[in-house]
Amino acid sequence: MVFLKTRSEINKISEAGKIVAEVLALVGEMVKPGVSTFELDQAADKLIGSYPNCRAAFKGYGGFPSTLCTSVNEEVVHGIPRNDRILNRGDLISIDVGVFRKGYFADAAATFSVGKPTGQQIRLMDCARRALAAGIEQVVDNNRVGDIGAAVQKVARKENFSVVRDLVGHGIGQNLHEDPQVPNFGTPRRGYLLKEGLVLAVEPMINEGTHEVRTLADNWTVVTADGKLSVHFEHTVAIGPNGPEILTN
Ligand code: MG
Repeated sequence: MVFLKTRSEINKISEAGKIVAEVLALVGEMVKPGVSTFELDQAADKLIGSYPNCRAAFKGYGGFPSTLCTSVNEEVVHGIPRNDRILNRGDLISIDVGVFRKGYFADAAATFSVGKPTGQQIRLMDCARRALAAGIEQVVDNNRVGDIGAAVQKVARKENFSVVRDLVGHGIGQNLHEDPQVPNFGTPRRGYLLKEGLVLAVEPMINEGTHEVRTLADNWTVVTADGKLSVHFEHTVAIGPNGPEILTN
């Protein structure tokens, strides 16, 4: 179901979103060779726990065990933090975090390099950031959901990278996942009609090689089918009277 939000609801999502942004900034700073993904998860957990009436959104969601999704290199999304998953110089790590506060969810993700990124890694991350920005620009009243995906896809295509099709963005609010689905591909002027008050998680996953993905035996970790790199950037965005409002900055 689609729920349009009032200004006071958007403000609550924004409050959760500020904590999400703070968590991403903290763990992003911690990303260094020798750090385990479990240490990142613990730090995120501690920060979220320091806010009253606040909890990690993913922990327990469908049985997911952790606060963060930590997805390294060919891992696209939903990687589970582990003590023995140590970051090495030259890795990329995508970190996704959601927060639930005062009845509302916010959700965001970013990819970080471990040590100095290669030229190709910079190109891939920069492409995904620009694809996210292009998608967010389309999150306006009277556009359609296809406008978002088309804008994301256009940026990726230009760089000869591919967008993951099996996983999509989503509405967000009192539920972590609400309608409409927000694919990272689409046809302009097609799909669900966007209206003021809609809040969406826009989250392009951009692959270096094929768009195809598969899920590992842990039933969570999604990886690229060809083992090449994948990156992920996400913001929670509201449609305000003057266009898109990023709530996870
Ligand atoms: Mg999301």
